[in-house]
Amino acid sequence: MTSTETPTPERLAFQVTRNLAAKSSADRDQILADPGFGSFFTDHMVDICWSAKGGWHRPRVQPYGPISLDPAAAVLHYAQEVFEGMKAYRHADGGIYTFRPEQNAKRFNRSARRLSMPELPEQFFIQALHELIAVDGDWVPTQADQSLYLRPFMFAKEAFLGVRPANKYGFYVIASPAGSYFPGGVKPVSIWLSERYARAAKGGTGAAKTGGNYAASLLPQAEAAEQGCDQVVFLDATGSIEELGGMNIVFVKKDGTLVTPDSDTILEGITRDSVLQLAADRGHTIERRAVPLSEWRDGVASGEIVEAFACGTAAVITPIGVLKADGFSDEQPQGSLASSLREELTDIQYGRREDRHGWLHRLDA
Ligand SMILES: *Cc1c(COP(=O)(O)O)cnc(C)c1O
Repeated sequence: MTSTETPTPERLAFQVTRNLAAKSSADRDQILADPGFGSFFTDHMVDICWSAKGGWHRPRVQPYGPISLDPAAAVLHYAQEVFEGMKAYRHADGGIYTFRPEQNAKRFNRSARRLSMPELPEQFFIQALHELIAVDGDWVPTQADQSLYLRPFMFAKEAFLGVRPANKYGFYVIASPAGSYFPGGVKPVSIWLSERYARAAKGGTGAAKTGGNYAASLLPQAEAAEQGCDQVVFLDATGSIEELGGMNIVFVKKDGTLVTPDSDTILEGITRDSVLQLAADRGHTIERRAVPLSEWRDGVASGEIVEAFACGTAAVITPIGVLKADGFSDEQPQGSLASSLREELTDIQYGRREDRHGWLHRLDA
């Protein structure tokens, strides 16, 4: 170590300011009775500053509320922004757990590197979740299939219109109670094949969790909705399947092999990685490789593909019911693997089954 380097501390000294207008427990209970997704927020948020001079500093937990920005803030013009999405689960013993947070911390930093943003040491990322749960733990719902969605994010705050990486950033964590994604039971989704629009290009930002990728997916998503579909699936330039733009995709073959696209244009989901691990534990063969659209369509037609499902933190695992495009509509075969993997994964997340891979991380202790 040279004399100018200081080692990264294990912990930050957070300053905690309580929200004097925090919701009453009666108001909170009313929200938690039917939280939906992404509409209600807890009483506090984490806020840490970064500057080129001072590194990470001013770690705070403060009342949830508006962030004041200079109109020239770089994020508003050049979109330096990255985020994560994870959940906190209430176990039967009252404990609050999250799932593989070190994977989210690592991915956050991979995204940050791609967007020329500073990396947040993993221990600070995880400490930030603990600090928020310490004040807002009562917001983690207790009903089946509910959770507290955690949204860490970072963006460029420097007021400067020149094009270069900003020298000031803010890291935040907000939290939003989430109801069951499928209140009436899991329903297969209909998928529209986007042939006109791409989500990401080779060498682009497809592997980073950044808002710009989502902005680019909204128009094709609207096209899907016009066609009566729930979701859109994207192809790469060679005609291979990428992902749904917010969920990864997995195909199940007749012989039990699971096949999933592998490419630097898709976001590597932690749900997908976990589901494939559980399947491998059961003896399934896993193939991560390019999956041409023709392989999907022909596989369904011939009976070689027996299931297709999408996966991500929000909806966990969703069977695909139909693939539609201009000129065809392929009904998808329905099997039982997606639902049994979904059950196994959610059982682990909610503490109903042994966590043999050590994926759970307690947040309230
Ligand atoms: C977050 C995300 C996923 C799913 O990742 P998980 O870690 O499983 O939640 C898939 N695709 C995109 C584009 C994403 O942003």
